[in-house]
Amino acid sequence: MHELSLVAALIEQLDALINQHGAARLSRVRLTVGPFSGVCAESLQFAYRALAADNPRYADSCLETETPPGRFLCAACGHESEHRPETCPRCGGTIFDRHGGRDLILQQVELEEE
Ligand SMILES: [Zn+2]
Repeated sequence: MHELSLVAALIEQLDALINQHGAARLSRVRLTVGPFSGVCAESLQFAYRALAADNPRYADSCLETETPPGRFLCAACGHESEHRPETCPRCGGTIFDRHGGRDLILQQVELEEE
């Protein structure tokens, strides 16, 4: 499962943050999931719970995700649409660029001191 390796990498990153801040635990982490990342937020939650369950630093922590809407930009005129149109409503162009991100972005982390 793709999400499992993403969460494993995320936890590695969070471990580094916890160490860096000399914190004892992580209580909350917020992620933005790029609309074109191909990542399923539900699978991400599932993987997080599976990996966090074995790790006392993440006991009772929660993962929050948000997925902003993707946008399609007309390659010819830059007109922005929420859904991919057949033709651009402004110029009739038919080539669109995806706009809105493929990445997972760590937004916010809440750490607890001992
Ligand atoms: Zn256009």
